[in-house]
Amino acid sequence: MLLGGEVKGELARIQPARACCRRAELIGLLHGSGGDRLQTLDHATARTAVHLASSLRIRVEAPRAASRGGSRTRRHLTVRVERDELGAWRWSDAPACDRRSFLRGVLLGSGSISFTASGPHVEFVLRTADAATTLRVRLAELGVRAGLTARRGHDVVYLKGLDEIVALLGLMGANRGVLELETQRVGRDVRSRVNRLLNAEEANLGRTVRAADRQLVAIDRLEREGTLARLTPSLRETAAMRRRMPDADLDALASAVGVSRSAVNHRLRRLVELAREGAG
Ligand SMILES: [Zn+2]
Repeated sequence: MLLGGEVKGELARIQPARACCRRAELIGLLHGSGGDRLQTLDHATARTAVHLASSLRIRVEAPRAASRGGSRTRRHLTVRVERDELGAWRWSDAPACDRRSFLRGVLLGSGSISFTASGPHVEFVLRTADAATTLRVRLAELGVRAGLTARRGHDVVYLKGLDEIVALLGLMGANRGVLELETQRVGRDVRSRVNRLLNAEEANLGRTVRAADRQLVAIDRLEREGTLARLTPSLRETAAMRRRMPDADLDALASAVGVSRSAVNHRLRRLVELAREGAG
């Protein structure tokens, strides 16, 4: 089973070769806070921010652990970047490589990926409504549909459905994550198809057994009433074979008797009818 942390780890390890992409990713990392600092619980993400800033010769403060709200909260790492040195950056002017890098930064800085029994879930928790709306629009521009909601004072952008999540991870370059998800999807499709077949098989089996029970009851009655001995040889032969093979389906019975499936079916129906007539 794939873990959200593994996918984020894969994303954190991507090191863009071009400076334009590194800058876009750093801006994405800061997008969630809407300011000059990244707050994260994840050490790899904090390291990524420091690496990106250093490689661009932008001043950055080493990650500091800050515990907020007492001992029950996990410790956040804060990375402060000299925002002015980043300069102006506009999504609308950014080439595709930078847009993808920006989104990767947002996911690393403010996003989480989880895999539940009902499927994968991706969400971004953002500090401001503006940051949330902007992110949603940008995702839509790249063909990824996202929902918007508020939770405990935070604005949350979320992705539902495997297709959207596979599309997003593909854009960001999480190739191993995409591969795992596709494999899981194939696995799940195959499993549900197998389950459907098994259920249908069971239903068929139930029908066969119920029909066989009716035939056996009919044959017993015909015998008790002395009718069985007076029937045609073909009916008697079929009755005898049904008794010898109480669980057999029509095909097995037909080949045992040496006639067609429909002939056996016809004879069995006739036996059930005759028993009903005798009873009536
Ligand atoms: Zn670029």
